[in-house]
Amino acid sequence: EQQGVEAPVFSAASYACQRSTPQPGHNTLLTDSLAVLAESAELNGDEGRAVAFRRSEALLRSLDRRVQGVAELRGLPCLGEHSRRVIQDVLDNGKSSEVEETKSSSRYKAMKVLTGIFGVGVKTAKRWFTEGICSLAQLETSGHTLNPAQQAGLKYYADLNQPVTRDEADAISVTVEEAVCSVLPGAQVTLAGGFRRGKTSGHDVDFLITHPDEGKEEGLVHKVTACLESRGVLLYHQTTRNTYQESPEGAGRPRSNMDRFERCFSILKLVQDPVQVEADQTDSGCRPWRAVRVDLVVSPISQFAFALLGWTGSKLFEREMRRWAVHEKSMSLSSHALYDNNQKRYLTASSEEEIFAHLGLEYVSPSGRNA
Ligand code: ATP
Ligand code: MN
Ligand code: MN
Repeated sequence: EQQGVEAPVFSAASYACQRSTPQPGHNTLLTDSLAVLAESAELNGDEGRAVAFRRSEALLRSLDRRVQGVAELRGLPCLGEHSRRVIQDVLDNGKSSEVEETKSSSRYKAMKVLTGIFGVGVKTAKRWFTEGICSLAQLETSGHTLNPAQQAGLKYYADLNQPVTRDEADAISVTVEEAVCSVLPGAQVTLAGGFRRGKTSGHDVDFLITHPDEGKEEGLVHKVTACLESRGVLLYHQTTRNTYQESPEGAGRPRSNMDRFERCFSILKLVQDPVQVEADQTDSGCRPWRAVRVDLVVSPISQFAFALLGWTGSKLFEREMRRWAVHEKSMSLSSHALYDNNQKRYLTASSEEEIFAHLGLEYVSPSGRNA
C-alpha cells in the first residue's frame, strides 16, 4: 500500500545549452518572479547575482510540468539558496514578498523607466537616478545633453516600449528584404533573435544578412540604410563597420558578447495597416505608422552559422554555450568562429548543427533556446 506518495523528483542538466527550454514553460509564476530579481540585479549592475537568477529562471522554464512543492526540486542544479527561498515563498503564498518589494521600490521603477530609453544603459540611468531623476519629464527638464541615440529614444519612447508583434516583425521583414535585394541581388536575409526562437513578441526585430559569394556582403549595411532612407522609413541609425580579424592564436576567451560584424542599430518606420490603425487609434495617437527597433547584422558566408547561432540567442543560452565550450571542451566560441585550444586550430561549420556537434552537445532547435 502506498502512503504519502511524493511527486517524482525532477532532473536536469546543469548547462542551459544541454537542455531544451521552451517559451513560456509550465512555471510562469515562478519564472516571472525570478526574472524580476534578475532584472533588478542587472539594473543594480550586479552581474553575478543577475546571472544566478537567470540560471534558476531558465532551469525552471525547462521543466516539463508544474512544480507543486520544493521537495521535487531536490538535487536540481542552478538553484541557489536564495532562489529556493523565493520559490518556496511563491509556492506557499502565491507570490514572493521580496519580488513585491522590489517591484514597488522607487529605484527599480525609476531605473526601468530610464533604461527603457533606447541608448540609455545601466550606468547612465544610475547616474541620473542619483541626481534625483526618476521620470522622463524630470529628465527633459534636467538640462542634460542627450546623445543622438538617446534623443531618438526619448522621441519614440512610447512606440519603442510597446512590444513588437509577430505580424509587425513580418511586415518589417518585407521592408528589409526588399531593400537588401534591391541593393544586392542574391543576398539572403534571415530573421534572428527572439522571433526565430518562436517568441510571439519582442523588443526589436533582428536580421542577419549574408551573400553566397564571400566578399559581396562587404559594405552592405551602408547601402541598405541608404536605400531605407531614400524610401523614407529610416528614423534613426547607428552603423558600425566590421572589425573582425582572425588571429592565429585563436580568439581567446571572449571578453564580452559584443561581436565585430558590420551592423546597424536602427529605428524604422512601420506603416500600419489602416484597419489596425483604426483599432489602435486611442493609444497610437492617430498616426498611420509606428517606430520599431531593428538590428541589421551582416556576416560573411564563411561565418554565417556562427553569426546565426550568436544572434538567435537567448543571451543566457549563448552565455551558457560559451561557458560550456571553455570549461568542458577547452574551446572558444564567438559569433564569428570556434577555436579549439587543444588542437590549436579553428573548427569550421556551415550549419548550427555542426557547431553543436563540434562542442559535443546534442542539437537544440531555436525554439528550445529560450533559456
Ligand atoms: P527581444 O525580444 O527582447 O528582442 P532577443 O532575444 O531577440 O529578445 P536581443 O537583445 O535582440 O534579444 O538579442 C538577440 C541576440 O543577439 C542575443 O543572442 C544577443 O546575444 C545577440 N546580441 C545582441 N546585441 C549584441 C551585440 N551588441 N553584440 C553581439 N551580440 C549581440
Ligand atoms: Mn531581439
Ligand atoms: Mn536586438
